[in-house]
Amino acid sequence: MAHRPGGKRALVTGGAGLIGSHLSDLLLGEGYKVRIFDNLEPQTHRNGKPPWVPAEAEFVNADIRDRVAVRAALEDVDVVFHQAAYGGYMPQMGKYVHVNSFGTAQMLEIIRDENLPVEKVVVASSQAVYREGAATCPEHGLVFPDTRPVEQLASGDYAVHCPLCGAVTTPAATPEEAPTGGETVYAITKVDQERLVLTWGRQTGIPAVALRYSCTYGPRQSVFNPYTGVIAIFATRLLNGRPPVLYEDGEQTRDFCYVGDVARANLLAAATDELDGLPVNVGSGRATTIREVAEMVSEALDAPVEPVARREFRPGEMRHLTSDISRARSAGYEPAVDLATGIERYLEWIRAQGGVRDYFAAAENILREKRIVQQAAKPPGSCQDR
Ligand SMILES: [Zn+2]
Repeated sequence: MAHRPGGKRALVTGGAGLIGSHLSDLLLGEGYKVRIFDNLEPQTHRNGKPPWVPAEAEFVNADIRDRVAVRAALEDVDVVFHQAAYGGYMPQMGKYVHVNSFGTAQMLEIIRDENLPVEKVVVASSQAVYREGAATCPEHGLVFPDTRPVEQLASGDYAVHCPLCGAVTTPAATPEEAPTGGETVYAITKVDQERLVLTWGRQTGIPAVALRYSCTYGPRQSVFNPYTGVIAIFATRLLNGRPPVLYEDGEQTRDFCYVGDVARANLLAAATDELDGLPVNVGSGRATTIREVAEMVSEALDAPVEPVARREFRPGEMRHLTSDISRARSAGYEPAVDLATGIERYLEWIRAQGGVRDYFAAAENILREKRIVQQAAKPPGSCQDR
């Protein structure tokens, strides 16, 4: 069934943020009435309400955990795009669960218990829900390896081994069927969010979709938050004359997706019923190493600073993750902006922001202290190795 978006009312939670704000612009362009709900978390929005929050949208400054505010914001809403979340590699634990898991559960409960006429809920999930990217074993073909053990990373072995025979694997595109259950608090709450929304959708009969975003970047990505977005972090480091810091050896691969493509995937999920009830990967479908990203950003900034790798690692982090986007493609999604173009657009925007400080160095010390970043042993071949 094709929906006519004209006149529909959308609620975009987290609508002042990177994805939410681009999505709000698109929705307005499509004729939706848009209500943005955002608490302007200081970690991301250091200077308060950002100038890109569109004047044509209604703006509600409130916390997703505030039952009364959420209830009021749901009034007359046809489609909910639930982007509000606490993200990145923050040291807090309780806040993740409270904002992401509880906030989502309470919103769904309100819609159900008050019989609100919501037609669809699209929730922002993440590739962080996977344990590790899919891989190919020379012996066993496509396998779904588990999260690499901390002891393995601490020994300086970053490879992904076959769960069946232990052989070193090569990365493969990860389909939605891959096992979920992340090993960071953020990942655990993203699994919660998508399961809450999809389970609730089945029980209530209200169509629901969970979009598993890959690494999303682009203009408006917070330059204040040292915990999220490797492109933003590298750019702010380089603009301050400091080298990008690579975890492990920098040869991890990720799927970088331009924010405009992610926003369009949300529109598509709202407009089609082909994705209802499903988790859906949204990415570029292409693998890029973190080292390559550092080089691309430094080249684009004309700042030839060598990245540094200090053999530090983040327990629970995946080695490789590239999204298999065939499910989204089958419903009409197609990424349009390649990484080089997207980085250019981001840097153009960041330059226009004036002085950009490097918030990463201080954050890094906190992460080390809390063992969210740890040090590996000397590389294989050195005298201390095994
Ligand atoms: Zn094997």
